[in-house]
Amino acid sequence: MPAALAKPDLLARLEQGHVAEITVVTPNRRLAQDLQREFDAHQIAKGLTVWEAPDILPFGAFVERLWEDALYSPIAEMRGESFPLLLTGAQEKHIWQEILKDSDFLLKEATALQCREAWRLIHQWRVGTGAANEDALAFSSWVSQYKRKTQGEIDSARLPDLMAGYVDKLKTPKLLVAYAFDVMPPQTKEFLEKLHYSECEPEALTASLARSSFPSAKHEIEAAASWARARLEEGKARIGVVVPDLQKRRGEVVRVFSRIMQPGYNLPGAAKTPMHFNVSLGRALSTYPLVDFALGLLEFAFQSVEFDKASRLVRSPFLGGADSEMARRATLDARLRKDADSTITLGKLIGLADPCPVLRKRLEAVFEITKTKPESPAEWARHFSALLEAAGFPGERALDSDEFQTRAKWHEALGELSRLERIAHRFSLNDALSFLKGYCAETLFQPESPDAPIQILGLLESAGLRFDCLWVAGLTDEQWPLAAAPNPFIPIAQQKKAGVPQASAEASAALDKRITGEWKRAATEVVFSYPLKEEDRGFAPSPLILDVEEKSVAVPDYPRYRDLIFASRNLEKFQDSKAPPVVPGKVRGGTRVLADQAACPFRAFAKWRLSAEPLEEPEAGLDARDRGKLLHALMRELWTRLRGSSSLSSDPGPAISQSAAAAVKEAGLEGRFAELERERLAKLAREWLEVEERRAPFEVAFIEQQRDLQVAGLQFQSRIDRMDKLKDGGHVLIDYKSSRFLSPKQWEGPRPDDPQLPLYAVAAPEELAAVVFARLRPGEMRFMGYSRNPNVLPQVNAAQSWPALLAAWKKDADALGAAFAAGDAHVDPKEELKTCRNCELQTLCRVYEKFSGLRTGKNGE
Ligand code: SF4
Repeated sequence: MPAALAKPDLLARLEQGHVAEITVVTPNRRLAQDLQREFDAHQIAKGLTVWEAPDILPFGAFVERLWEDALYSPIAEMRGESFPLLLTGAQEKHIWQEILKDSDFLLKEATALQCREAWRLIHQWRVGTGAANEDALAFSSWVSQYKRKTQGEIDSARLPDLMAGYVDKLKTPKLLVAYAFDVMPPQTKEFLEKLHYSECEPEALTASLARSSFPSAKHEIEAAASWARARLEEGKARIGVVVPDLQKRRGEVVRVFSRIMQPGYNLPGAAKTPMHFNVSLGRALSTYPLVDFALGLLEFAFQSVEFDKASRLVRSPFLGGADSEMARRATLDARLRKDADSTITLGKLIGLADPCPVLRKRLEAVFEITKTKPESPAEWARHFSALLEAAGFPGERALDSDEFQTRAKWHEALGELSRLERIAHRFSLNDALSFLKGYCAETLFQPESPDAPIQILGLLESAGLRFDCLWVAGLTDEQWPLAAAPNPFIPIAQQKKAGVPQASAEASAALDKRITGEWKRAATEVVFSYPLKEEDRGFAPSPLILDVEEKSVAVPDYPRYRDLIFASRNLEKFQDSKAPPVVPGKVRGGTRVLADQAACPFRAFAKWRLSAEPLEEPEAGLDARDRGKLLHALMRELWTRLRGSSSLSSDPGPAISQSAAAAVKEAGLEGRFAELERERLAKLAREWLEVEERRAPFEVAFIEQQRDLQVAGLQFQSRIDRMDKLKDGGHVLIDYKSSRFLSPKQWEGPRPDDPQLPLYAVAAPEELAAVVFARLRPGEMRFMGYSRNPNVLPQVNAAQSWPALLAAWKKDADALGAAFAAGDAHVDPKEELKTCRNCELQTLCRVYEKFSGLRTGKNGE
């Protein structure tokens, strides 16, 4: 039995400094840091200003330190062979991955991590052998290969066993204390026993306990954050909040705590003041913008990438010349969105980057370097560094503290790649890039920040820590105790026998019961909470907290920054819905202006007078606009050849194929895709001609004719798709459309959805017999519209009164034109938010403020 040391005695021994030759080992880094902080507070409370730093470190780091001592001591020489070198975690994983290369497992990276974990468990818990399932048999054959591949090396799983044989030959502390080991694996215990260790437990506090429920996990986390702020304001110095699934919910938790601790934290220009809280788990290194850029650039240097990735690189502040060329690069990006394909290569981007000379020079330098072909991990690491340097990484502006630390971490990642040289001599580009991406995705990182009073922790990280007050969230019957999670490569019976926690439901429940008991002693106020519902699943409290009395916890309601502003409003009414009148003359946008004016006056004003247009996104294949152009080109080519109904009596086949070919050529399509489009268009044309064949005789009067239309003193340019002259007199005005949602009702005023054809009709000098859409939709082809008399076109009804219809259209068009000309710019969507659904101007017009909960009056006043 190890000797027990009380916590005050431990602190007293640490006070003596190096004379006491005392080392404290903890199960993890967090506990080591916490004990260190507690010791510092203890010294400050005694009025000291300087003291010796105590030797407190995690158990693993202590063993590694002994290994380093041995490496540079005569022991290494005494062995007669070199002392085994310690593999890094990345090297261990790579060896497992190499072994798994030929296995049937699909997720090799994840499987390699599970193998590494199984190897650790076997050593740490002294798991014996026994009847094995298929996976375990496969694992034991991989283990033989692993042992062969790591001959002469040592890994973290076996290091304590190796070093246990040398402790009597190395300088070890006089007193070794194991602090807060709630669960001690046999391997650790055997090692520590060799050093005659003592045990020390954190002090047990007497707490007032409460159990509380909340409608949802979101409400629960908001309550925990408000409670933490209230306790902080009361002067509590150490507040703990334990959140289940912290890794998954990290973003949400940080947002809620930031908002409640410092409303307005995310306003542009807001000071980066300490937030008073610290989240124990970092984010994946690859999610930091600086690392995302570095990985993105390395990928782009060698292969084509999707446009949005290349666009991010062009606009990134981490690319050389980003500040001096900021405006030019933004313009280039907007242009690329119009002209580039959905994927892009470095060579292509260089060709398009003329407007940004610095960018072009940087990319050319990168391109030059890609011509050399490294072969080993270390060469790739140097090559990648050179590529990034050529790109001007990490940009012109000074890095802030977080970015600076992130860059150091990125260099560590390159260092890890380089260190693979020890175990892998040949490495392809794919190997090197996959390693870096995998390493950055698996490495959790958090830039260092000053110690914060509120600690947000995951479920299993709080063990052994002490607080003034503690809130443990998410304790539902589903979440706590945790479900068993045995390693798949070790038979469960062996894991159970060895006492591996999480190996079985009973072991997991026993461990979690101990942790719950530990929470009850971890602070003087402890709140256990759980959500009642998530989506449509209802929850009960965890059986492990049923003995705690259900009480409501007073949680202040801290307002949001938005609400603070709104509450302190001192409104001055200012009607700003009228723009200066439009100068009479030509108007940009053609008749689409009037369609937008009808949908929402602000939309027409913003789009056609302010040129507020969304950035485009290149799409793979043809987008809707390209398809519309193809369709119009097909019809133009077809009727240029056919010229009227008389040619339909002979075989229109040759005209159809020629027209489809001409339309595809005009669109610049090539290869197999062009062939498919030709076939599709020819089929479409054939089906359409069947509709045309059912009509009374006609001649095509003109195709795609440009006309200027005058409305309310403004001149709108229009292009009529086709005008037919009927043999019996009169003209038919035709507009090609392929939309499913098409109806002549879209012409009805006073705010017509599509005023284009009515406007053409009222302005046409020809005597019209019908105004129609030609719906060119496979399986749904037909004319839709109105005619002056019955039976002018198949399926087209005669208007009740043709003159009245034209007069109504004219009135609507005049009214819309006059409103636009007068500068009417009301935010007034025709069908409220339904009209806004596909409009990209929502952030400009702030329509959601008008229709959101902040609204107090009909007009948002
Ligand atoms: S989002 Fe709605 S209100 Fe805003 S401009 Fe578009 S249509 Fe008008």
